[in-house]
Amino acid sequence: MIAAQLLAYYFTELKDDKVKKIDKYLYAMRFSDETLMDIMKRFRRELGNGLGRDTNPTATVKMLPTFVRSIPDGSEKGDFIALDLGGSAFRILRVKVSHEKKQTVQMESQIYDTPEDIIHGSGTRLFDHVAECLGDFMEKQNIKDKKLSVGFTFSFPCAQTKLNESYLLTWTKRFKASGVEGMDVVTLLNKAIKKRGVGTGTNACYMEELRHIDLVEGDEGRMCINTEWGAFGDDGMLEDIRTEFDREIDRGSLNPGKQLFEKMVSGMYMGELVRLILVKMAKEGFLFEGRITPELLTKGKFETKHVSSIEKSKEGLAKAKDILGRLGVEPSADDCVAVQHVCTIVSHRSANLLAATLGGILSRLKDNKGNPRLRTTVGIDGSLYKMHPQYARRLHKTVRRLVPESDVRFLLSESGSSKGAAMVTAVAYRLADQRRQITETLAEFRLTSDQLLEVKKRMRTEIQNGLGKKTHDSATIKMWPTYVLSTPDGSENGDFLALDLGGTNFRVLLVKIRSGKRRTVEMHNKIYAIPMEVMQGTGEELFDHIVQCISDFLDYMGMKNTRLPLGFTFSFPCRQTSLDVGILVTWTKGFKATDCEGEDVVGLLREGIKRREEFDLDVVAVVNDTVGTMMTCAYEEPTCEVGLIAGTGSNACYMEEMRNIEVVEGDVGRMCVNMEWGAFGDNGCLDDIRTEYDRAVDDFSLNLGKQRYEKMCSGMYLGEIVRNILIDLTKRGFLFRGQISETLKTRGIFETKFLSQIESDRLALLQVRSILQQLGLDSTCDDSIIVKEVCGTVSRRAAQLCGAGMAAVVDKIRENRGLNQMDITVGVDGTLYKLHPHFSGIMHQTVKELAPKCNVNFLLSEDGSGKGAALITAVGCRMREQKS
Ligand code: ADP
Ligand code: MG
Repeated sequence: MIAAQLLAYYFTELKDDKVKKIDKYLYAMRFSDETLMDIMKRFRRELGNGLGRDTNPTATVKMLPTFVRSIPDGSEKGDFIALDLGGSAFRILRVKVSHEKKQTVQMESQIYDTPEDIIHGSGTRLFDHVAECLGDFMEKQNIKDKKLSVGFTFSFPCAQTKLNESYLLTWTKRFKASGVEGMDVVTLLNKAIKKRGVGTGTNACYMEELRHIDLVEGDEGRMCINTEWGAFGDDGMLEDIRTEFDREIDRGSLNPGKQLFEKMVSGMYMGELVRLILVKMAKEGFLFEGRITPELLTKGKFETKHVSSIEKSKEGLAKAKDILGRLGVEPSADDCVAVQHVCTIVSHRSANLLAATLGGILSRLKDNKGNPRLRTTVGIDGSLYKMHPQYARRLHKTVRRLVPESDVRFLLSESGSSKGAAMVTAVAYRLADQRRQITETLAEFRLTSDQLLEVKKRMRTEIQNGLGKKTHDSATIKMWPTYVLSTPDGSENGDFLALDLGGTNFRVLLVKIRSGKRRTVEMHNKIYAIPMEVMQGTGEELFDHIVQCISDFLDYMGMKNTRLPLGFTFSFPCRQTSLDVGILVTWTKGFKATDCEGEDVVGLLREGIKRREEFDLDVVAVVNDTVGTMMTCAYEEPTCEVGLIAGTGSNACYMEEMRNIEVVEGDVGRMCVNMEWGAFGDNGCLDDIRTEYDRAVDDFSLNLGKQRYEKMCSGMYLGEIVRNILIDLTKRGFLFRGQISETLKTRGIFETKFLSQIESDRLALLQVRSILQQLGLDSTCDDSIIVKEVCGTVSRRAAQLCGAGMAAVVDKIRENRGLNQMDITVGVDGTLYKLHPHFSGIMHQTVKELAPKCNVNFLLSEDGSGKGAALITAVGCRMREQKS
């Protein structure tokens, strides 16, 4: 008994001894975690180089964009053909993706022979062969007459410039057909080629943030990047870890000096690596008692699948004996143990290296996403991973050790490369179809120059109608006279009160204007809230509230006892019969107080002051904010004779010839007309360019059917238009996973300031996402691209329509004056104009294009409603004095 135990112990010792010797012998193939971390770091650097514009040309890891912008999201469906060339076998598959309830993928495939002479022959022949097989396949599948889309898994490094354009950089693996490198394989195949998945060589594709890919225009969304990591090390980066065996493999390969990483890792070379090691060990008498057979010396005689067999835990040694026996080396039990250990070291090295590069990608993804932890799924394919008894487990373990701050799920992809190709084809088609439909939807908002010219022309007609005596009553654009006869001349002087009602805030102001050499305007103001119930309550309540605010302001300024002249900026359509009479025609912009429409608002204000019996004021002028804006700018710049508002609402005014204003007596000089152009289109004249979304916004507004132009151009409505489009796109399944959230259903959530933020050029997509997130809209990257596009389209149309209107105005002024060419300044106010990143630019451009004979200068107004009201009041006071 004891003897037997001793004997067993002796053998274990012997085994351990041998193992130790081999460990020492193959020391260079065994990596510590530090080394692996270091390789991971190097690979991350390579990833960066591959993605950079300047570094890409010389980078070894090419990071080729695939133009597949999204991973399959489960909504793809259809019938596809997938070609899989570059793996161990050439395969053609038919993949049917359906999703009634659950997405199902049905596959039929056939393997076709690709003889050596074809693989090493001419490119033409190779592709002919592929096409021939495809024809055969389609015939067998009875789909010869069907037009199915074809995905091409072409597992070689290609530079893809478009989804269906792919230039072969270099052949790898056993392929070497002539005349293909540098060519577009799509053209060669004369088929629609889509992007491929993961091949039997080692290669990975993953989703990279597009903003990191300099080679592709734009920085939005993510794109699937084919790392082509097989070339890692081709610049010498991995020399310190390559062994003599790796060099020998490379020397004997079809592509020496290339794909060095692939040659260390991929299943294609693993058996050969082991064979070379065995040969050397045998030569040194370390194995097989020095026996070397012709079989052992033959390239390819030791295959990767043998490595897998020998590493099996139970029957591994028996397999080794069998396999080595067939090589004629008559292995001893000891030899078998040794060879098994060699296999373990080689395959373990492969798993380790793969883990390091995968770790590099994962840590980059983690940084891209900015999360402290990364949750992701890696789809893996390849027979080494599938068949080798230990490989997968080792790979997982090492990846988790190298990138501990990640939760990685490994998903075995069943015949991944082909299904991958079909899926990607499906994704591409889904995206293309979706894109087409979204483009179609938004096309309605894209106005042509002709359409814009037509808008300008119609605006001109409506202007004419508003000015004409006979047509005025039925006109939509009322062209209200303001009784402002001149712009300021600098002689204005005194202290004035101003009220600003009709904008976002209600304000009371004290404006001190000083004339003389050094003209100054000093302003004090206080903002007051107008509660919703007051805005939409009775007129008396509204004006009582206003007077109460004035009272507070006068107390605040300590001026209760001075009877100051007051200008009332009242930014709603008013019919004026003199400077201080303004009859409210209709409320707009969310105001709805009763008993005001049809009344003189100056009268209502005076009554309110009287009711309070506390102080007295001299109401001199009722002022529209557009007029205030024009006056403020004219005070600085005498050529300013137009006012424009692009804020909550949209409106304009300008100096019209008295002779043209038929509704007012007198033919001499000019008067400012408040156009109230927001009502443009209320007679249906813009219905051909209004969309269903405009109609939806109108339907839910307080003033149904009114202010149709304003509802397409102004801040109060742009967000609502966007929201309505988003709802529609979501209903159709293009956005937010088809889920219309409560938030999205909420009117008004999408404020125009969000449009400004989202459309900002400097914004990365992640930030757009976070804005949407703040709004409670859970979005993907692809969603945010679409949302941004919708916002851009809506605001562009707004700016263009506004520009078309302005072009009509300035051209009218030019013609009034019989000028061939005219310089003019437009005073502008409004937050949409001031803060939106593109609105002003597009508007300017449109005016330039539609009114080429006018040289229009836009001047930003500083507080037009306050300062302008005071200036008009001052002008009014001056004229009153002149009269008396
Ligand atoms: P009003 O026209 O009411 O006198 P503003 O000119 O300040 O006042 O315009 C306010 C409107 O501007 C808001 O109702 C909103 O629609 C829009 N707005 C607010 N913030 C922004 C922004 N950052 N970018 C574009 N539009 C904005
Ligand atoms: Mg305003």
